Amino acid sequence: MTFIDCHVHSSIRDVQPQHPLWINSQGPQDWQSLVESHRSDRDKKILDPPSSQSRLFLGMHPWNLGPGGTGELARLEDLLRSNPDIGLGEIGLDRGPKARDWQEQEEIFLGQCALAEKYSRPMALHLYKTWQDFFRLAPKIAHQLPVMIHGFTASVELAGQLIKRGCYLSVGWRSLAKGQLWLEELLKLIPREKILAESDYHGDPPLTLEAYQKKMEDLYAALASAGSMEIEGWKEQIHGNAAVFKNGADDRSQGSAVPGT
Ligand SMILES: [Zn+2]
Repeated sequence: MTFIDCHVHSSIRDVQPQHPLWINSQGPQDWQSLVESHRSDRDKKILDPPSSQSRLFLGMHPWNLGPGGTGELARLEDLLRSNPDIGLGEIGLDRGPKARDWQEQEEIFLGQCALAEKYSRPMALHLYKTWQDFFRLAPKIAHQLPVMIHGFTASVELAGQLIKRGCYLSVGWRSLAKGQLWLEELLKLIPREKILAESDYHGDPPLTLEAYQKKMEDLYAALASAGSMEIEGWKEQIHGNAAVFKNGADDRSQGSAVPGT
């Protein structure tokens, strides 16, 4: 079985891996080109043959809300309406120095969550130093949608709270810097059914296909040694978990929620 990379950006196209990719936009400036290449991949069946789990997510990253701010929401809605297989990502909240004005961020984040609910699409979230904000806003986010927290590096306690709210946690290359003990504790507490795996590759520094694949192998090897399951088992597990993130409302399985309590 192949790997699956559950969060990556458009520069992965230069690397050309052959496994399923969940490509996330970084902001309004790349929506159009991503949609075009996604459609052409689909037509040529490159990235999205029937057996594949490749996905495209469009949205406004809190670093990159676009020149139009909330005005971009209408354009995003048009793209979602005309592309029923596209999810919302990378969207979120950020209290770091690169992020935009807080009020604007919150408004745009909730606007994007409302679009996810309206069109029944999964979400890929970026949350940086905003856990309390997220829990405060959680009652306003649809209960039944699949939600992944991408690049999870926070505490194991916080992981437990997020799981109670039905979120999936995506462990990435960056998460490995937290060390083996952290990963062991995380995998002890969090059901395997809630784990995803990602590179968050965005082309800086650029990697060859071999170097990218080596880093994906290292990630899955770290999951295998910390989570007492073989690499092949993790591949199957994550493929299974990822299936819930099917875009569109059809036959979505149960089990994802961001409860409002
Ligand atoms: Zn990202």
